[in-house]
Amino acid sequence: MLIINENIEKAKLKSGRNDDVKLIAVTKTIDVERIKEAIALGVKDIGENKVQELQTKIPLLGDNINYHMIGYLQTNKVKYIFDKISLIHSLDRISLAKEIDKRAKSKNIIVDTLVQVNVAEEDTKSGLKVEEVIPFIEEVLKLENIKVRGLMTIAPFTDDKKLLRNIFRTMSKIKDDIISRNYERISMDFLSMGMTNDYEIAIEEGANLVRIGTGIFGKRNY
Ligand SMILES: *Cc1c(COP(=O)(O)O)cnc(C)c1O
Repeated sequence: MLIINENIEKAKLKSGRNDDVKLIAVTKTIDVERIKEAIALGVKDIGENKVQELQTKIPLLGDNINYHMIGYLQTNKVKYIFDKISLIHSLDRISLAKEIDKRAKSKNIIVDTLVQVNVAEEDTKSGLKVEEVIPFIEEVLKLENIKVRGLMTIAPFTDDKKLLRNIFRTMSKIKDDIISRNYERISMDFLSMGMTNDYEIAIEEGANLVRIGTGIFGKRNY
């Protein structure tokens, strides 16, 4: 925990940044008691990749935490979580956007989302291709109760630092491109990128949300 916070600060210094980088503790498969220990150490944001786990953990952890949905979201499960989470990081298709919008409308709320981009075009990962992002965002713009607040990516698991840096840099470029288009209802507040393996590089390239699991809780045994 403490080491990670230090490393985040170091990476910020290295890149001359003084804006906020928020740590999201990824708690998938981690039980509530251990999550509470992390909360006692200062964790305020929690990321989960399964709706089911969010549904069980949210009532146990309470309202003072920001919950993030970071995994593939099935359309038929939106209804269970859309009004309980701060940010959906995994918006990757129009059918999902429409369902979120419909549910949000029924409660008269706006749901914040990030568009997931699969920069490396890995078959095993969801997310849009780089060139699909702008047309997708222009479609989502038409939906009034869903708001795009930024972009998210999961980089390949590799030691190739140059490749990782290129991927994160591409994300920053897409972000800048979107900003330059001055869309009325889109604010590029968040770049969610960087996990245990690569968060320092991600921060150097502009990430302001990092999602860290193993680095806080140790290796998961699936
Ligand atoms: C599991 C997961 C993480 C955290 O990965 P670690 O390597 O354990 O830090 C981050 N983002 C997503 C989408 C994940 O599924």
